[in-house]
Amino acid sequence: MFTKMNVIGKDIVVDVVDDCTKPCDVISKIAVIHDLEEKDDAFFVMDFGDIVNKFEKWEALLPRVHPFYAVKCNENPAVLRLLAALGTGFDCASKSEIKEITDMGVSPSRIVYANPCKPNSHLKFAAQRKVSLMTFDNEMELQKIRKIYPDAELVLRILTDDSTAQCQLGLKYGCHPQHAPSLLRVAKELGLNVVGVSFHVGSGCRDASAFSDAIQSSRMVFDYGSALGFDFQLLDIGGGYPGQSSAAISFEEMAGCINQALDVHFPEGCGVRIISEPGRYFVASAFTLTLNVIAKRAVARDIQTFHVPGSEDLVANTVAPSQCDEPAYMYYCNDGVYGSFNCLLFDHATVQPSLLKKMLLGEPKFASSLWGPSCDGLDRIMENCLLPELHVGDWIVFEDMGAYTMCAASTFNGFPKPICYYMANESTWNFLKRIMPCPVEMEPAPPPCNTKCFSDSITCPTMRSGLSIPHLERGD
Ligand code: PLP
Repeated sequence: MFTKMNVIGKDIVVDVVDDCTKPCDVISKIAVIHDLEEKDDAFFVMDFGDIVNKFEKWEALLPRVHPFYAVKCNENPAVLRLLAALGTGFDCASKSEIKEITDMGVSPSRIVYANPCKPNSHLKFAAQRKVSLMTFDNEMELQKIRKIYPDAELVLRILTDDSTAQCQLGLKYGCHPQHAPSLLRVAKELGLNVVGVSFHVGSGCRDASAFSDAIQSSRMVFDYGSALGFDFQLLDIGGGYPGQSSAAISFEEMAGCINQALDVHFPEGCGVRIISEPGRYFVASAFTLTLNVIAKRAVARDIQTFHVPGSEDLVANTVAPSQCDEPAYMYYCNDGVYGSFNCLLFDHATVQPSLLKKMLLGEPKFASSLWGPSCDGLDRIMENCLLPELHVGDWIVFEDMGAYTMCAASTFNGFPKPICYYMANESTWNFLKRIMPCPVEMEPAPPPCNTKCFSDSITCPTMRSGLSIPHLERGD
């Protein structure tokens, strides 16, 4: 059943499905509908249940740490509205993120302005919106804050070892713990209110001991603070948590390390409030992207190594290509590195394609490359993969595409960003109806519009009757 839901003044369409239905079933259904309507648009499917599950897992495994979702990671309004309803705080990095969150009615006390180098105008906006908790890591920032927002509650961001992380941030931000005393002394002289310490172990952290070391360093800085007469009450352990099951480290392992370090350095009852700034953790696996093959070229095969989707292909992955005449294929798709796959460049992501169409037993595979739609040769999604022969109009699916994808996508060359559809299993939907406050309204979607034939003509086993997807604006 497609249901309309109003999220922050915009209608989104949610496919409410039974509890056994998986995102891939919903994707198949939407692809069939697109085929019937002769639409080839790339599209995301977001699963509300995935985010709810992540939240519950966080609560179970890191009960002492209150998450402030890093808006920069994915500012989809449905994500923000859901997390607000679940009770997270928000890490905002700019005026526009602060505006978006406070406009939703979220209290400014649930926001940390976690950007150590803030433009004056954004700082003034934070002051207007009473977003007082903010990070800093240098003396100039302290001077600026004293002038613009002297009552702010300041959190000193320290440098940590992020050398093994997928995206390192320490090159740009963080005060070395050894320099913390002199910076804190300046803050004291300026009469500023420093309330705690923060760090970020790097996005996509691969080594849980980075958290233990950073928590230990934070303890040291807390002690410097006490010696200078500050009464720190907040520890912000930043982001860096894995967002997908294929990550190099599990959330369980990371949480175990964090809890152990907190118990040693900031034990229960010590009076320190602990917050964090998870981004990819909440959204990576909730979004699946489906692309259409819009063009294809057969080329001479000249490939030495293969990256192979699907488990059975791990064997083939180790087999050197035979010297036969079979072609290689270049497939052009309708999203690329100027769109959602900017994550390949900016987030150092690796992506894994799978196909919607069923493969036949023993179907041959060919060396293939996947390209985006723009005219730039840089716009390549995958250099070498083994795929069965695809055709124009086929659909290619990429899971775990929710983090640092659409937030930095452009419409370069006039190629639009993918549409987003939403799904919720019935149990999640009933939960959403209980927790989503006004002005979220839920009502049945309008009756089938230009797709009257759906329920009669589609034989896809996962489909329910009376299907159509109401019109959606792009980039929702
Ligand atoms: N906090 C800050 C200050 C960041 O810069 C980032 C990401 O760059 C995050 C939180 C979110 O990190 P992650 O998505 O790895 O959890």
